[in-house]
Amino acid sequence: MKYDYLIVGAGLFGAVFAQEAKKKGKKCLVVERRNHIAGNVYCEEIHGIQVHRYGAHIFHTSDRKIWDYICRFAEFNHYINSPVARYKDELYNLPFNMNTFSRMWGIATPGEAQDIIASQIADLGITEPKNLEEQALSLVGRDVYEKLIKGYTEKQWGRDCRDLPAFIIKRLPLRFTYDNNYFNDRFQGIPIGGYTRLVERLLDGTEVRLNVDYLEHRGELDPLADKIIYTGMIDQFYDYELGVLQYRSVRFETEELDMENFQGNAVVNYTEREVPYTRIIEHKHFEFGKQPTTIISREYSSEWKRGDEPYYPVNDARNNALYEQYREKAQSGTKVVFGGRLGGYKYYDMDKVIAAALELCDSELRQEEGK
Ligand code: UDP
Repeated sequence: MKYDYLIVGAGLFGAVFAQEAKKKGKKCLVVERRNHIAGNVYCEEIHGIQVHRYGAHIFHTSDRKIWDYICRFAEFNHYINSPVARYKDELYNLPFNMNTFSRMWGIATPGEAQDIIASQIADLGITEPKNLEEQALSLVGRDVYEKLIKGYTEKQWGRDCRDLPAFIIKRLPLRFTYDNNYFNDRFQGIPIGGYTRLVERLLDGTEVRLNVDYLEHRGELDPLADKIIYTGMIDQFYDYELGVLQYRSVRFETEELDMENFQGNAVVNYTEREVPYTRIIEHKHFEFGKQPTTIISREYSSEWKRGDEPYYPVNDARNNALYEQYREKAQSGTKVVFGGRLGGYKYYDMDKVIAAALELCDSELRQEEGK
């Protein structure tokens, strides 16, 4: 065997694993289907602007260990995510906070906002929320739900809010302070110089082969290594033999505009159903860019079909049960370990991906010692 590990996928999970394995004296080969490293955190620099090619990524974590770890590979700027929601001609701050409520109802104090929300919730009479609509209504009341949640969520997931699981909405905090910081985490920022460079550093010293589709070459690749770390879709790995897991895909329409500042914010969500895209990203604002032109991406959400890029796992009961079957199958073998968002069929944030890769590396190398 030439390598200890064959890592399939040069995204964050694979790169962190490669870095740690290398440090422990293991030899890794990374193969990547695309013509670039960094997976979905890949950024391409255009006219001095880091363009997030596969969707905006904002690093945030409350885990001091993970923050210290990633700061060894990049310096982070002081970007704080504060998206704006646009509903028709009305603009609201996100996440739902006193700025949002004050704009919506013309009120000023937390007490007034709480009274309005409480009376809207009381009118509904929901005791146990059975789906996302009921969950959202019973958290924020009808006004916020109809203007800022319903349309956006139905576009994003392509499903009626009554057919979606309640947990999706738990990502969105609700606050009675004037605080537009989208995340509750202690550490946050964007790596200066972009994510691609960060991943490059993680992969420093590891052999990477781009434009190699593992599934097309598994016959030649498998014998090269003792073990495989697979970060692609687990169902595709098994040729969908137990069934097809559902994903949402995103199409990005990116254009350069001949103006300095298009929307004044990195992220503007379009929360009404009638606008076909979910949000517009203006990339330069992640880095406080002052370039003479600007680059924006409109995001269109769609149901994933074979050949599309998968983004969001659809973690409803059916898909989770199917994933469990794949997971059991995976555990019955010893050569392949699955990781990352696609391998784990879970909507991980970046910090969780890093934590999972570190953990896997630890447990792998402990097993080795035990042998
Ligand atoms: N969401 C919403 N309105 C918004 C933004 C988000 O209703 O303006 C809901 C929606 O259901 C979405 C979930 O919150 O699926 C998580 O959104 P977020 O933008 O945090 O996810 P991301 O796509 O950035 O990972």
